[in-house]
Amino acid sequence: MTAVLGMERFRNYVGGEWVEAANGETFESTSPANGETIGTFPKSGADDVDRAVEAAKAAFEDWRLVPAPRRGEILFRFAQLLAERKDEVAELMSREMGKVLAEAGGDVQEAIDMSLYMAGEGRRLSGQTTPSELRDKFNMSVRMPIGVVGVITPWNFPIAIPSWKIAPALVCGNTIVFKPATDTPLLGQRFVELLDEAGLPKGVLNVVHGGGGAVGDRLVRHPDVPVITLTGSRETGVQVLRNAAEGLKHVHLELGGKNAIIVLDDADLDLAVEGIVWSAFGTSGQRCTAASRVIVHEAVYEPLQRRLVAAAEKLRLGPGWEPGTDVGPVINARALEKIHSYTEIGTGEGAKLLTGGEVATGNGLEHGFYYRPTIFGDVDPGMRVAQEEIFGPTTALIRVRDAGEAIRVANGVRYGLSSSIFTRNVNTAFRAMRDLQAGITYINAGTIGAEVHLPFGGTKDTGNGHREAGQAALDVFTEWKSIYVDYSGKLQKAQIDTAG
Ligand code: NAD
Repeated sequence: MTAVLGMERFRNYVGGEWVEAANGETFESTSPANGETIGTFPKSGADDVDRAVEAAKAAFEDWRLVPAPRRGEILFRFAQLLAERKDEVAELMSREMGKVLAEAGGDVQEAIDMSLYMAGEGRRLSGQTTPSELRDKFNMSVRMPIGVVGVITPWNFPIAIPSWKIAPALVCGNTIVFKPATDTPLLGQRFVELLDEAGLPKGVLNVVHGGGGAVGDRLVRHPDVPVITLTGSRETGVQVLRNAAEGLKHVHLELGGKNAIIVLDDADLDLAVEGIVWSAFGTSGQRCTAASRVIVHEAVYEPLQRRLVAAAEKLRLGPGWEPGTDVGPVINARALEKIHSYTEIGTGEGAKLLTGGEVATGNGLEHGFYYRPTIFGDVDPGMRVAQEEIFGPTTALIRVRDAGEAIRVANGVRYGLSSSIFTRNVNTAFRAMRDLQAGITYINAGTIGAEVHLPFGGTKDTGNGHREAGQAALDVFTEWKSIYVDYSGKLQKAQIDTAG
């Protein structure tokens, strides 16, 4: 891997060759921390997608026949390479995406974990064998690869999210055209370079850089791409689903969240404050699982609010690679504007701005996109700051009278990704596990911290019923085939020859 930032011009990877976009156009990736140029990338168009799909389609014919344990071994080598380069990739992530180093290391670690888990899957990919209702007949179901998968990813987990999609898709025997987010193309590039180094055959994984409108949309509509897996906003998800409908594609969507932490009157408040600060302001609030609502029992509302504001005001803003930084920049100028517009919306709606609410400047912060950790108090559950995904370091405190009301308020949004409750009462905790309408529930922990071997995803508008990670991911990238082997030597008729 070369690591000269700024001057280097990167290319697409199609059929095992590094190639320019057909139109010769480019775009730059810059750091949200200080504006430095990270690299120049092809601003590709439909022609480039078509070429990459053709290469992936051709490579599928052999890749599907490579024994799954051999496919898994490549993922295992990839995990090893990623582990060797973990610090280097994390450092690059803090520059290109803005995360603090510890979190960037966690992002890379998640990809290592996912690749190891899916490497092992190469020796499982289990189906079922069942008895037959007829004599001398054998029944089984097997997972079949589907073909070319279009992988479209966001910028907020630039190594982890591609691994959630690419590792299971590959081990199942599919080939891929990958479109990384335009805010983090170099991390997407590194991901592909390492898989190439791990020994992936030519054409099995292709990368085409460029925007959602040109590259993403062509992938979604391409007749030879039967599977689309997208992580992004609800609005993008709806558009993709609509555009893929004519091709009756398998569309796997992981979308937004408006996740809540509930703090009840019997909670360990110190623990709750720690969990809220980590969940609301970690990754500058730009996690799909970020806690953007805190629902608090009235008996502990005042002390929790006091401690939380004090903790938020202690957080140090700065470039992610500097030791001592707690909160890095947000991704770009557009995000900064959107986050600040929600501060204005919240104050306009009558919520009380307790801390933050402004763009951070001074000490060089004006060269990047920094926003002060922001807490609104006395928020009504119906306010826009309590309903809409802000995707920044802003959280809203909502006061409730009891656990029942807390759960109703937590469920009163369109999204259903992550949820959390702080309580020492086991009965209340079990009711919350049952009643919170979310794909993930944490007890006495914040809303973030998923592990790769359990399903990941959400209910309601967070997705369309699929899950990534764990065994559930395999359902996105395979189709079931049921096989009946009759060794009786005569024609036996199911449901008709019932005598046995
Ligand atoms: P985004 O929707 O703007 O973009 C996501 C990707 O889709 C990008 O690569 C983009 O270029 C592409 N895209 C945009 N329009 C497209 C189109 N019409 N056709 C095909 N592709 C298109 O999202 P973002 O700003 O990059 O990421 C933030 C969003 O992602 C938030 O809503 C966040 O909650 C969500 N997210 C969800 C999860 C999850 O697992 N549920 C995880 C991380 C992020």
